[in-house]
Amino acid sequence: MEYTPFTPPNRTLMGPGPSDVHPRVLEAMARPTIGHLDPAFVGLMDEIKALLQYAFQTENRLTMPVSGPGTAGMETGVVNLLEPGDTAIVCHNGVFGRRITAMAERAGAEVVVVEDPWGRAVDPEKVEAALKQHPEAKMLAFVHAETSTGVLSDAETLAALAHEYDCLTLVDTVTSFGGVPLHVDAWGLDVVYTGTQKCLSCVPGLSPITFGERAVEVVQQRTTPVQSWFLDTGLVMAYWGDGAQRSYHHTAPINALYALHEALLMLRKEGLEHAWARHRRLHEALKVGLEVLGLQFIVPEAERTPQLNAVSVPGGVNEGKVRHRLLREHDLEIGAGLGDLAGRIWRIGLMGYAARRENVLKCVDALGTVLADEGLAVDAQGALDAVQSALATPAEA
Ligand SMILES: *Cc1c(COP(=O)(O)O)cnc(C)c1O
Repeated sequence: MEYTPFTPPNRTLMGPGPSDVHPRVLEAMARPTIGHLDPAFVGLMDEIKALLQYAFQTENRLTMPVSGPGTAGMETGVVNLLEPGDTAIVCHNGVFGRRITAMAERAGAEVVVVEDPWGRAVDPEKVEAALKQHPEAKMLAFVHAETSTGVLSDAETLAALAHEYDCLTLVDTVTSFGGVPLHVDAWGLDVVYTGTQKCLSCVPGLSPITFGERAVEVVQQRTTPVQSWFLDTGLVMAYWGDGAQRSYHHTAPINALYALHEALLMLRKEGLEHAWARHRRLHEALKVGLEVLGLQFIVPEAERTPQLNAVSVPGGVNEGKVRHRLLREHDLEIGAGLGDLAGRIWRIGLMGYAARRENVLKCVDALGTVLADEGLAVDAQGALDAVQSALATPAEA
């Protein structure tokens, strides 16, 4: 067997993540590795922190990237906040809420589940009922933008309820960060984590997280050690903390952090509001094209998140075959359904650098072509024309 260097195919990534990474971010990653205690690197860490504070819209001092994917950020939040015997209320309206529950149970917590249908936002009334019934609850956890269904929940309202009942919030913003409005401080969110490979369009493998003052106090008052040594924020802060000694905790993923810095610089340059507006605008154009193709969104319009478009697979169409043809013949990746929605929906991502007009056009063109070829009566040209005219409408100021 002759082994050769791997050359990835040239794909357009419009699934649930990872999204297309900007060439500037890839170039940053290829710069020479330096030591993780090098003063030059420490300067970079300070900038990353400040840029993350901007992107999260927070002044929280405990803001840093966890060395691991979004799931590691989720676990960092869960295991630092919860001790055995604590009560946690976890909202389920898709895959990721369930994952939070699984982690909270392993941390020894009593989990109260607030269940909403897949494809619907978390219902504040159900959350309030659970808070009322469980005044001992320490943490309310929910997913801001559910990537498994394309639903956006009202983080501000849910956080306000939690605080009325003196409960901390753990908020998953893996897909919402950089794609839709997120105001950690103004909304009073306590622990918020995200990932790098969705609307930030950075390489996968890092999970920025931020802890508010209330959450820091709760963590400091623990009576049992955090079950995970690696994710114990008290220990990690010896490396990432303000004015910390920057003593060795683990070797930071240096080159991935170069990439994160570059991606955050680009977001800062564009401006958060502009990035949010861009995702919204391109979602509107994609929506028009998908509708002309006869594809129906599974989420009611008012609860949709623009960066993840979940549509039903039309009757008589082979879901997997269409996706594989898009990949093989058009180098276009879209996502399949998860859990109960497997085989029934497609998930089309418009995340970060992938949220561009050429991608929307490419996606509607490729889908129209493949669906027509699969024997579905679709107006592929009409769909493209509709997208073109939606894109020609000037953006709102
Ligand atoms: C992708 C995703 C995660 C998990 O992130 P990984 O980087 O895959 O570990 C968690 N929550 C949501 C909402 C996500 O979309």
